[in-house]
Amino acid sequence: MTASATFRARYLLPVARPPLENGMVVAGVGIIRYIGPFDAARIEGKLTDLGEAVLMPGLVNAHCHLELGGLKGKLDAARGFVDWLRQLLSLRGGQTPESVRESVLNGLAEARRSGVLAVGDISTDGLSKAVLEGARARGVVFREALGLLPGRALSAWQEVEAFLEAAWGERLKPGLSPHAPYTAAPSLYRRLGEAAGRRGIPLATHLAETREEIEFLQTGGGSLGEFLKERGFVPAGWKSPARSPVRYMESLGLLKKRGIAVHGNYLDSEEIELLARSGWGVVFCPRSHRFFGHERHPLPELLQAGVPVALGTDSLASSGSLDLFEEMREGFRQHPAIPPEQWVRMATRTGARLLGLNDLGSLADGQSADMIAVSYAGGDVYENVLQADPPSCFFLTTGAHRSKPEERG
Ligand SMILES: [Zn+2]
Repeated sequence: MTASATFRARYLLPVARPPLENGMVVAGVGIIRYIGPFDAARIEGKLTDLGEAVLMPGLVNAHCHLELGGLKGKLDAARGFVDWLRQLLSLRGGQTPESVRESVLNGLAEARRSGVLAVGDISTDGLSKAVLEGARARGVVFREALGLLPGRALSAWQEVEAFLEAAWGERLKPGLSPHAPYTAAPSLYRRLGEAAGRRGIPLATHLAETREEIEFLQTGGGSLGEFLKERGFVPAGWKSPARSPVRYMESLGLLKKRGIAVHGNYLDSEEIELLARSGWGVVFCPRSHRFFGHERHPLPELLQAGVPVALGTDSLASSGSLDLFEEMREGFRQHPAIPPEQWVRMATRTGARLLGLNDLGSLADGQSADMIAVSYAGGDVYENVLQADPPSCFFLTTGAHRSKPEERG
């Protein structure tokens, strides 16, 4: 029995290089051994001719919360972000560990059906790691940490330490996520930042997401401040940093190491420059952005400044599905001047890079053979991918420990 497999397609889309017509990929034990023009002499193992299709790397959802899947369609943002937070906290109370595990499993299956082969998943309950491991998922599990109150911040840190000490395999990597500047104390940010830097693992935080967050950081007040105080989340004598979100991160020393700013909806030009210089990336979640009715995302300015921007779905509490094709299309609707090629790169290579999964997100010799194929209907290849209907998208994965490719319809 041979461990190799060969795929031919009308187009290969390596992402790191221009599309290639009539190309082939030879994969062995989950790794790409050859990619180039079709050449019958190079076929190894079984040949799968995908015909009129575009063969490309699996998509990377750089920001999701699979544990929140059970909240799909149950929240609305009609009365703003703070009211949405209120709904979220109340509905989360009704979840059980079993229902959360089921949400993670269902979310992963849904993501895979739409061509997502790696996730950056935020785990608030600490439950998704075991479920994702059991399902042989690839990606990063970010342990979320919340606590403005000193006692809560300390216990959150202890949970993070236990999470880091756990056993980690090849397919799933740990990451750390101080939730947001309005829920994580400076001490928690510093500790998580240092731990992530020391271990060389990714750090992600919700940043500059809402006008309410910015007001709270500047003044300690506003509707978000009122809400947090009402819930008893703000320590007595707490002083606002009186800084914008990115400058606040800088003052905590967080910009010395790489990080991921999730959303980055409200950034001024100086903050964009700070992100660019520090090597931080941003994850843009177009449908969640629309759900909350945010102002135009500074995506063009971020890209112009050289900030890597990846795509995420965010949770089903603010988005209709975990389909990253839908995310690319919605982003393109919001920013039609940004070409299809850029959206495809954001949904593949940039996401993989921000998550530190450097063997994913592009097709090249030595890269993982985690690939998807979408049907090709003619015209520009990138445009085809952007308009691909998920039902016509199928994926092939020759996961690192598998010897044979697996096809799913
Ligand atoms: Zn989020």
